[in-house]
Amino acid sequence: MSDVIIIGGGPSGLMAAASAAEHGANVLLVDKGNKLGRKLAISGGGRCNVTNRAEADELIKHIPGNGRFMYSPFAIFNNENIIAFFEGLGIKLKEEDRGRMFPVNDKAIEVVRVLLNRIRALNVEIRTKTEVKEVVFDHSNQTVTGVKLASGEVLYADNVIIAVGGMSVPHTGSTGDGYPWAKKAGHTVTELYPTEVPITCNDSFIHKKELQGVSLREVRLSVIDPKKGKVIKAHEGDMIFTHFGISGPIGLRCSQYVVKAKKKHGVKVIPMTIDLFPSENEGELQQRLMTVLKDQPKKALKNALSGFVPERMIATLLKKAEIDPLQIYHDITQEKIRTLTSVMKSFSINATGTLSIEKAFVTGGGVSVKEIIPKRMESKLVKGLFFCGEVLDLHGYTGGYNITVAFSTGYTAGRAAALGEDAN
Ligand SMILES: Cc1cc2nc3c(=O)[nH]c(=O)nc-3n(C[C@H](O)[C@H](O)[C@H](O)COP(=O)(O)OP(=O)(O)OC[C@H]3O[C@@H](n4cnc5c(N)ncnc54)[C@H](O)[C@@H]3O)c2cc1C
Repeated sequence: MSDVIIIGGGPSGLMAAASAAEHGANVLLVDKGNKLGRKLAISGGGRCNVTNRAEADELIKHIPGNGRFMYSPFAIFNNENIIAFFEGLGIKLKEEDRGRMFPVNDKAIEVVRVLLNRIRALNVEIRTKTEVKEVVFDHSNQTVTGVKLASGEVLYADNVIIAVGGMSVPHTGSTGDGYPWAKKAGHTVTELYPTEVPITCNDSFIHKKELQGVSLREVRLSVIDPKKGKVIKAHEGDMIFTHFGISGPIGLRCSQYVVKAKKKHGVKVIPMTIDLFPSENEGELQQRLMTVLKDQPKKALKNALSGFVPERMIATLLKKAEIDPLQIYHDITQEKIRTLTSVMKSFSINATGTLSIEKAFVTGGGVSVKEIIPKRMESKLVKGLFFCGEVLDLHGYTGGYNITVAFSTGYTAGRAAALGEDAN
């Protein structure tokens, strides 16, 4: 019999295993896949964005929704601890834009390898190709007693850590298995939805693939309330047009607000806008635009705008402003220049939704954190039952925040499961 059984060998389960073993427990880690850390190995485009170097408050801000829950787990194991942990295992990390931390050699697989070496060195027993079918409870005294495998075998332990992830990218093993177990234990599972997922749009320029592949840098993308016309959420950064809509860092960040607004208002379309020049106000932009056009008085507008906005966007911008692309500066009215400026400051796009939860980077919703003791990651309802990682109603933006949540909650759960009351 083990002291702690961990179900799931993603970042949260692997860190929980290392932590529980470091704190003296006899640990068994089971995973239904033939390999551990499958999602971790493809994260960050195969480079693994292990964490983010932001200050605590910034980290929390990048975990929308229930981010404040993370204050306690971060007090036990935070981003700096994650960095020290990996550097201690010989993986040098580098900081990229916006605090994102990657292994110097850009190899996610190295991160998985050192984690596995660490838990093997700590004598964690590992069973792959071992699917857990259910968690076994003693309902008479609200305690956990072990897990039942798909094979029918029952494994006993006083502590079980559920680290099975969400239900996105299911070929990595995350197939939503943890939710029914949590419900059976009496837990609330909040509504599941795709987050950090590309947005679908129904505009004709999207259907016609006019902008497919066009990347925009340092723009502001806003999700607009369909009833009040006010901005629900705006993010600044980079994005890309796809053949079905928009993606890229700020597209992904805005996606959950599209999903929620659609649901809240019961509408089919959520308006969005792109500000191509967020650091200039409309007046400043208009002045600069006029100077550029005045300097090329004989050029057709479609050519004069070259270099001012991405080449492949010019035709769409002029069409939206109802300007003939062959017109020259002298033939164009002030009114039309104002309209073109407005289009650049508020390029409208109609979001119809997002790709599916399976195609999302992250699953939103999950086991309610209201029923979890944050400094232990233990259930408030069932003794010895712990949750960590994406199975919880916790999700961060891309940029290393999800893996940070997984490592932090995993470490905290492993420590508390090993130390029992001494962890408090
Ligand atoms: C393509 C991609 C790129 C990403 N990039 C980033 C990034 O750069 N930065 C970032 O912060 N986040 C990123 N994420 C999100 C991040 O990878 C996840 O949030 C994180 O992996 C969640 O960790 P986890 O341990 O909770 O679950 P998972 O990594 O999903 O692991 C769950 C494990 O549980 C096992 N399991 C499931 N059910 C059972 C069962 N019944 N029995 C036994 N085992 C079971 C699975 O086989 C799996 O190994 C990315 C996600 C994707 C899909």
